Amino acid sequence: MHDDALQELIHLFSKLPGIGPKSASRLVLFLLKNKEKLMYPLSRSLLASGKSLKKCKVCGNIGVKFPDKICNDPKRDKSIICVVEDISDLWALEKTGSFKGLYHVLGGSLSALDNINPDDLMIKELIQRAKNNNIKEIILALNSTVNSQTTLHYITEKLNGSNVKITKIAQGMPFGAELNYVDEGTLTTAMKARKPI
Ligand SMILES: [Zn+2]
Repeated sequence: MHDDALQELIHLFSKLPGIGPKSASRLVLFLLKNKEKLMYPLSRSLLASGKSLKKCKVCGNIGVKFPDKICNDPKRDKSIICVVEDISDLWALEKTGSFKGLYHVLGGSLSALDNINPDDLMIKELIQRAKNNNIKEIILALNSTVNSQTTLHYITEKLNGSNVKITKIAQGMPFGAELNYVDEGTLTTAMKARKPI
C-alpha cells in the first residue's frame, strides 16, 4: 500500500451518494478508531457480498441465487409483475406486504440529461417477459418525477399491442415523490387503487 492510502480511502468514500469530502474524512477516521469492531468486518463483508450478490437476469433484483428469492417463491402470484425503478422501491413495497406478485427492477429512469437510454435499463427484458402468456397484468409503480413519467410513457408505448393489462399505481403520491420515501400507508393505498393506462 502506498503512502496515499488514507487519501485514497477518503476519496473512495466521497464517491458514495450523499457523502462529501468532509463526511468521508469523518467516516474514515471513525473506521480507523474502530478497526477490530468495524473496519475489518466491514471490509470482509464488502468483499464477500461483492463476490456473492448478483443481479437476477429475469427481474433485476439482487440476490445470492439466480433466479432470486422472489422469482423463485412458489407462493407468489406469477401472473402479475410490478415494475419499479430501483431495488429500494422493491424493498419499500415488500415492507407494506400489499403485493404478492413478481417484480421487475428497471435500474433507474430514462434521462436525456444524464444520457440514460432505454438500453441502459431493463426495458427489453420487461417486454420479453410481457410476451409470456401467463402474465395478466403489469403494474407500473414508478416515481412521480419528470424522468419517471417519461419512462412510464415509453414503456406503455412499447407494451402497446400485447395482451397484458397495464396499470399504474394511483395518484396521491406527491409530485416529485420517490416511492421509497412515501409512507407505507400511502404506498399500500396507491397500489390497491391502481388504474388501467
Ligand atoms: Zn428475479
